[in-house]
Amino acid sequence: MEDCIFCRIANKKIPTEIIYEDEEILVFPDIKPKAPVHLLLIPKRHIVSLQEVKPGDEKLLARMILAARKVAEKKGLALAGYRLIINNGPDAGQAVPHLHLHLLGGIKLD
Ligand code: AMP
Ligand code: ZN
Repeated sequence: MEDCIFCRIANKKIPTEIIYEDEEILVFPDIKPKAPVHLLLIPKRHIVSLQEVKPGDEKLLARMILAARKVAEKKGLALAGYRLIINNGPDAGQAVPHLHLHLLGGIKLD
């Protein structure tokens, strides 16, 4: 997906600070952070949204959530807590059509 901004980040065509990476997942800072810690976790493979997740992707989703936990622990958020968010579709305000998990923390969240 050449015109997908998160694919371009995953393919290293757009530079970012890589917070965590493995074969399937990339974690990088949100460009407009809404909390002291605001990271995005994406599958490297283009998946439009949670709605487009297919049977067989269960492991990938579980790995994304566990990667979020690992990163949150590294950022020192384990005790204070943090929030994971997936916006799906227009009513949720999903702006980037490549599945992503927001990890927010470092402040008391509303
Ligand atoms: P969503 O509304 O769930 O689709 O969130 C998309 C998020 O991607 C927003 O929080 C944006 O600030 C963030 N974002 C958009 N472009 C970039 C980029 N090039 N690098 C990092 N974050 C981005
Ligand atoms: Zn993409």
